[in-house]
Amino acid sequence: TPEYWPLVAGGQLALSDAQRHHLYSVMRQREGGSVAVFNGVDAVKRSTVLLFGVLKGARLPTLIEKAVELGADELQPVLTQHCAVRSLNVERLGAIAVEASEQSGRLTVPCVREPQPLQAVLDGWDALRPLCVCDERRLDDTPTLSARLADGSLDAGAGVLIGPEGGFSAEEFETLETLPFVRPVSLGANILRAETAALAAMAIIGCGR
Ligand code: SAM
Repeated sequence: TPEYWPLVAGGQLALSDAQRHHLYSVMRQREGGSVAVFNGVDAVKRSTVLLFGVLKGARLPTLIEKAVELGADELQPVLTQHCAVRSLNVERLGAIAVEASEQSGRLTVPCVREPQPLQAVLDGWDALRPLCVCDERRLDDTPTLSARLADGSLDAGAGVLIGPEGGFSAEEFETLETLPFVRPVSLGANILRAETAALAAMAIIGCGR
């Protein structure tokens, strides 16, 4: 629930069927066990948004589940020229995010947004916030994400944008390169699958700390 329930020892909280199932059947909790209760809102730390080209099949649920475990705060599917899939069941992805939050013991549930075209995402981006674009084209010449974090040009409040299976088009790279808030980053010497790239970026940023 998005509401805040002040809860003290001995207080009562009504669980939904899904929460009861998770607690008793999945986590095997019994009377007398302890649980952490959260309201899905975290106003303190800077949030990390993961933006990713929409992927095919099971890759997207995998990306969502693992990115949530690794601490992503917001998940924005992006429609790019090379996306093979253009529609999504956002509700199902949101349910995966809830489950992954519960099992990883994090105290917030990241929001899975409706997919948006790349241009709309860029038009709405806060120009004061760096957007790391994971760019696999010139891995030797592009600063790594770790180097950007180490030199202080980025922090966990940055956005991270990953292309779909087919990567970004030349035209999309041209657009991205003109934007002052864009920081191209490499994730190391090897070309990664899109979902691996997303997870590597989340692990490097360490947004779950
Ligand atoms: N064909 C593979 C697949 O099916 O997933 C590889 C796709 S790779 C082109 C997809 C995206 O991952 C790229 O657009 C880029 O954002 C990111 N990526 C992959 N390896 C990378 C690396 N070493 N450095 C930076 N970004 C990388």
